[in-house]
Amino acid sequence: MDLLEFLQRFSVIYSILTVRYVLIAGLAFLLIWKLLGSRLAHKYIQPERRPNKDNILHEIKYSLMTFFIFGLVGIFMYEANRNGWTRIYREVDDFGWPYFVFSVILTIIIHDTYFYWTHRWMHWKRIFKYVHLVHHRSTNPTPWAAFSFHPLEAMVEAGIVPLVAFTMPIHPGALFLFLLYMTFLNVLGHLGYELFPAGFTRSPWTFWHNTSTHHNMHHRYFNCNYGLYFNLWDRWMKTNHTNYHEAFEKLATARPSEPSFETLGQPARLRKLS
Ligand SMILES: [Zn+2]
Ligand SMILES: [Zn+2]
Repeated sequence: MDLLEFLQRFSVIYSILTVRYVLIAGLAFLLIWKLLGSRLAHKYIQPERRPNKDNILHEIKYSLMTFFIFGLVGIFMYEANRNGWTRIYREVDDFGWPYFVFSVILTIIIHDTYFYWTHRWMHWKRIFKYVHLVHHRSTNPTPWAAFSFHPLEAMVEAGIVPLVAFTMPIHPGALFLFLLYMTFLNVLGHLGYELFPAGFTRSPWTFWHNTSTHHNMHHRYFNCNYGLYFNLWDRWMKTNHTNYHEAFEKLATARPSEPSFETLGQPARLRKLS
């Protein structure tokens, strides 16, 4: 690959990653924080700690830096594939649709495990401040924090793609769906508002899935709630925050506060008299 081809491919990958980020994180921010923020005030997870403009700029700056690392990994994957080192296949019929669907689900399960253990490793005292502190500068994250990583952490996070593509047959479409799902769930974890219904963390149908409260508590307390998609490793390793269910339930059952005296205007009796 010559320099021109490298730059062309790199800029295409970088643009796709940035557009994906701006669309998903940006829309969540616009819709939940800006348009519905006051109506959803009772669902806001950390009302006592509002991120300021500098916090948000930090999240955006490091996310844009992360895409440089992801872009380089993308180029590496392109070259690896061209040299026949990956198990990426082009024709869905080679393995069929059931395998296509299975490969997306399996990749999500593998990533959940990969994320939990690399995340715990990055919390190891000796390396935390060099690798993971950038992400934890957001003690009350916004959706923009989804990819706010130090370049070293970005390399760790990008590792899931070669891990999967080198070890199991995967179609580019399946990889695309996995990365899309990952971005949605990543933004959900940094949403800052809890939108899931009451009982979600205890229901036999949904207890295994994480919530916005779960990852928000990780940013607040640091030493708990390490999981990404599923609440399984945190249960098995007993790393859920002891108040996780209570904190979630409090938000999920919260009702909008009553309109204040000022917003209602003068009471009817007073109006009649005047
Ligand atoms: Zn962490
Ligand atoms: Zn986070």
